[in-house]
Amino acid sequence: MVKISYMNGDYLDHDKAKIHIEDRSNQFSDGVYEVIEIKQSTCLNFADHMTRLSRSLKELKIDFVNEPDKIKTIILELFAKNKLANGAVYIQISRGSAPRNHAFPEHAAPFITMTILDMKPPFLADYENGIKVITYPDMRWKRRDIKTVSLLANVLAKEEAARQGAAEAVLFEDDGMITEASSSNLFIIDEQNILRTHPLNNMILGGVTRKNILNVAAKLGIKYKEEAFSKDDLFKAKEVFITSTIRHVLPVTTIDEVVVGNGKIGPLTYKLRVAYEEFLNGQVY
Ligand code: PMP
Repeated sequence: MVKISYMNGDYLDHDKAKIHIEDRSNQFSDGVYEVIEIKQSTCLNFADHMTRLSRSLKELKIDFVNEPDKIKTIILELFAKNKLANGAVYIQISRGSAPRNHAFPEHAAPFITMTILDMKPPFLADYENGIKVITYPDMRWKRRDIKTVSLLANVLAKEEAARQGAAEAVLFEDDGMITEASSSNLFIIDEQNILRTHPLNNMILGGVTRKNILNVAAKLGIKYKEEAFSKDDLFKAKEVFITSTIRHVLPVTTIDEVVVGNGKIGPLTYKLRVAYEEFLNGQVY
């Protein structure tokens, strides 16, 4: 079956869906994106994704009026056209195309595209035995809270992880403080059994999964602190896991060849994972 993608009003054969040579996302990374999981034709955590998309657009002053109902209609139409009920959609909105010039062009119309992602969730064994990660310097710019398509530092970090046979790169600052991972947020259970993750600020992307995991933790009575922690804290942690739209709650059991805990998913990570899956399923039924 031919894969169909969406481009600014048109549903096209994926191979014919081409962006303009002077689209500013191409020349300047001047665009934002979202990745949303679809389950049984339901857009999971949809309101959270739309809130973040609107914020990203506003921070970059991209003049696109985000109407969530319209976006949802297009996503569901795209899934229907591709005869799919489950998967993930990648949505990108660029500032549009104009002759190359750094400052914002006077006449550029935002350009929206959507593609269905070949969503490959981690293997079940990874949820039981955890994944291996590496630590890697965080080389990104200082507005990581905006979900822009400028992902080169993330790409290089993930590539190095892949070269070392690891599934993710955990990023650290020059002072050794951990921010997040190349395409996920990072959590630890510290020696006091407190769940910890980096606070929301310009240094990390505010993950939709991160936000909902903290809500789930509160409901389960798990104490948490949104407080930065160091590489040392990471290596001393009882449990470590990453979160993202695609990977949900995924335990980390090896960091730079050092085994975390007993090398299996920890009890609190397990509890959070089960409760988060229930939270997602609750949106479907
Ligand atoms: N941080 C970064 C750098 C990411 O790329 C992602 C995934 N888009 C996340 C965190 C997790 O965000 P979410 O839970 O919204 O998928």
